Amino acid sequence: MFHHPRNLAMQSRSPEETRRLAVALSPVLRPGDVISLGGDLGAGKTTFVQGLAAGLGIPDRVTSPSFVLMKEYLAGRYPLIHMDVYRLERMQEVVDLGYDEFLDPSHIVVVEWGDMVEPLLPKEHLSIQIGYGDAETSRDITIQPKGAQWETRLQGVRSLVDELFSVDRDNPLAPPPPKGPPPQEML
Ligand code: ADP
Ligand code: MG
Repeated sequence: MFHHPRNLAMQSRSPEETRRLAVALSPVLRPGDVISLGGDLGAGKTTFVQGLAAGLGIPDRVTSPSFVLMKEYLAGRYPLIHMDVYRLERMQEVVDLGYDEFLDPSHIVVVEWGDMVEPLLPKEHLSIQIGYGDAETSRDITIQPKGAQWETRLQGVRSLVDELFSVDRDNPLAPPPPKGPPPQEML
């Protein structure tokens, strides 16, 4: 696959890791931001939104909005709108009911299957693709900035994500590796 250096790619090995990745992304989110989530049914889009919500301090249990088009969570640091536009006819529903939400600068908006309504999305948005990996609970996740602003803002996320996915992931409580040479008395 063509590697685009502006993208952030990582492999999640569990639903919990996917949520943790979303928690790591959440501090950079601001009202007016739009995130588009892509990936097959069961890939982990809703799981990712659960992490985002937790990171935003939303205490509610986040479930799939498949049957209601959108859910609104108001109890966190910023209001969050969670949409799912899986059914194709929703393009029209989105135009009728939800388009203003994309442009609402007071909310953070996350759209599952956002690729399906791509023409409706603002030029500046974050696209996150989740694909099945080679093991039952592994997922390949790619974060793609759309627009110059997100390219810049994603730089701040890069180090957080690198840290999250490069430390001893099997033992998160392990002490960090020693920095520099050992103290003299140990030699
Ligand atoms: P989607 O919203 O994309 O249809 P969901 O988040 O509702 O997907 O469901 C994803 C399912 O896959 C959940 O049952 C989750 O526990 C499971 N799963 C297994 N491994 C992972 C992973 N690494 N990341 C996210 N979900 C995972
Ligand atoms: Mg879902």
